[in-house]
Amino acid sequence: MTDPNDLMTEVPSYAFVALARRGMEKISLDQCFLKDCDNENPDLLKPFKKEEYEDEKRQTKEIHIKCKKCNGIFILKLVTLKRVAKSTKDETEDPLSMGMVYALDENKKNLGHIGYF
Ligand SMILES: [Zn+2]
Repeated sequence: MTDPNDLMTEVPSYAFVALARRGMEKISLDQCFLKDCDNENPDLLKPFKKEEYEDEKRQTKEIHIKCKKCNGIFILKLVTLKRVAKSTKDETEDPLSMGMVYALDENKKNLGHIGYF
């Protein structure tokens, strides 16, 4: 069983957000994604549960996090697409960035796509 204190190590520190024509912006995932909360202090974020599942195409991890500032709970959903077969046209093509981060609320309602990791 995973020690809850280790759960934060499962969360990438940063995600990258694509900006139209201006490249990528790096944002910290050490923050509360609930509406009306501006907590960016990792000491006030307490991950307490992890769910993990996978199918043929993707591996999904959901880290449940309690925010001690707003007392809300949110879920960081990390989806990693498995390596797909390379294009036959271009042997040297690198796989695209394959991790995506979403924020969900306590009831698993999607709060939005945060970015890529
Ligand atoms: Zn909060």
